[in-house]
Amino acid sequence: MPELPEVETVRRGLERRLKGRVLSDVEVRRPDLRFPLPERLAERLKGRRIDDLRRRAKYLLFDLDDGMTLIGHLGMSGRMNIHDARPNSVAPHEHVVFVADDGTTVTFQDHRRFGYFDLIETGALDTHRYFINLGPEPLGEDFDGAELTRRLTAKKTPIKAALLDQHVVAGLGNIYVCEALFRAGISPKRSAYSVAGARAERLVPHIKDVLNDAIAAGGSTLRDYVQASGELGYFQHDFRAYGREGAPCRKTGCTGIVKRIVQSGRSTFYCSTCQR
Ligand code: ZN
Repeated sequence: MPELPEVETVRRGLERRLKGRVLSDVEVRRPDLRFPLPERLAERLKGRRIDDLRRRAKYLLFDLDDGMTLIGHLGMSGRMNIHDARPNSVAPHEHVVFVADDGTTVTFQDHRRFGYFDLIETGALDTHRYFINLGPEPLGEDFDGAELTRRLTAKKTPIKAALLDQHVVAGLGNIYVCEALFRAGISPKRSAYSVAGARAERLVPHIKDVLNDAIAAGGSTLRDYVQASGELGYFQHDFRAYGREGAPCRKTGCTGIVKRIVQSGRSTFYCSTCQR
C-alpha cells in the first residue's frame, strides 16, 4: 500500500509533467472505483488548466482553474503511469486517462480498485469530510514537539497506536511509525501521554527524517523509473527495524534483537533493549 512518501513522490512526478498544463482530453473508462466517480467527470475536467498539484495526507490534490480541486487517492494498489504521448491502446486496469495539451498522458491504473477520485470546490477542502478531522501534516512547519505534545497529553493508548491515529498526525503509516520510534529510542508500548514533552521533542525530528529519507530514495528511483518505463511506482526502502524480526539491532552499541509484536492488529517491529 502506498504510504505518504510514495504519494509525495507521485505528486512530485505529476507536478513536473502536469502543472500549468491544460487537460485536452480525459477518458473515464468505468463508472466507479472504490466509490462512484463524480458525475460527468471527463466533461468537467476537459479544457481545465491544472494550476497546482498538492498533497494532504495521502490525497493528491489537482487544483483546477475553475475553482475546483480534483482529489485522487491511490488506495491499496493504484499507480499513475506517465507517458510522453497518448498510447494507442489502454493497458489492463487503466481506469482513468488524463491527456495534457503537450501530449503528456497520465493513466490511473488500479487492479484492486480501492483508489478513488472526487471533485470538490477548492475553497471548501478544509471543511470537507475527507480533511476536517485530519491532524497536522508530519512534514509541515507547524508540526513540532509542542504540537505533538498537545495531541498526546490526554491519550492513554500506546504511542504506536496514537501515531497511526489520523487525528494526531496525518498520513503516517505503520512502517514509518515503527521506524521513527526505533530511531528515537522510544518503546512502541509506552503510553502516549508519557511521550508528551521531552520525548515528543525528540521524536518529531525523527518522524520528519524517516519520511524525508524515503522521499529522497523515491526521488532517485523515480528518475530511473521515468527513464526506463515512464511509470511512477513504489519502491523498496532500507528499513532499520521494520521487517527485521530476529535480526540484530542496528543501533550502534546495542546488543538487542528486533522483535515483532501485534498492536491494534498491525505488526510492530522494535528493539526492547534500546527502545524504552
Ligand atoms: Zn537496540
